[in-house]
Amino acid sequence: MRGYLSLGSNLGDREAYLDQAMNALGACGVHIIKTSSVYETKPCDVPDRQENYYNLVVYVETELYPADLLALCQVIEKDLGRQRPYVHSPRTIDIDIVYLEGITVSTDTLSVPHPALEERSFVVYPLCEIAPDIVLPSGRPIIEVKNTLGDDDIVRMWKIDHG
Ligand code: AMP
Repeated sequence: MRGYLSLGSNLGDREAYLDQAMNALGACGVHIIKTSSVYETKPCDVPDRQENYYNLVVYVETELYPADLLALCQVIEKDLGRQRPYVHSPRTIDIDIVYLEGITVSTDTLSVPHPALEERSFVVYPLCEIAPDIVLPSGRPIIEVKNTLGDDDIVRMWKIDHG
C-alpha cells in the first residue's frame, strides 16, 4: 500500500530527529518515495511555551498492514526518546499516519485518514507540496483546503538534505 505520513519534532536537534526517523522507516520496510520540504511551524494548542516544530510529510510504500505501520511508528518514536509527560508536551519525534490510498481505518487506536488532517496547516502545506492533485476524504481538493487555512503558523521552509 501507499500513503502519507506526517513527521514532526520540537525538542532537541529537530532536523536530526526527522532524518533519523526517515532512516528508521526505510530500514523497517517503509520505502520513502517522496519527501516534502521541512516546514518550521508555530506550536498550536500547547499549554506552555515551546520551541517551534519542524514538520514534513513523506509519501511511502510498504507491505505492512495499517496497524503494523502504526506500531512501527510508535516503536520509532520510543527509540528516538519520545516521552509523554502531559498532553501536547514537546516531543523529539511524532509520526502520524495521515492518509492511505484506498484504505480507511476506524478502530480504537487508529483512524485513517487522520481526523485532524484538514485542520492542520503543518500537514496540509507539506502534503500539498508533494501531492498537489489529491482530493481529500471530504471531497475537497487539497489546494482549496490549503488556501482556506492560510500560512500564519508557518515560519519558514527549506529542503532537507536526506541522502
Ligand atoms: P500522538 O500523541 O500524536 O502520538 O497520538 C496518540 C494516539 O493517536 C496513538 O496512541 C494512536 O493510537 C492514535 N492514533 C489514531 N489515529 C492515528 C493515526 N492516523 N496516526 C497516528 N496515531 C493515531
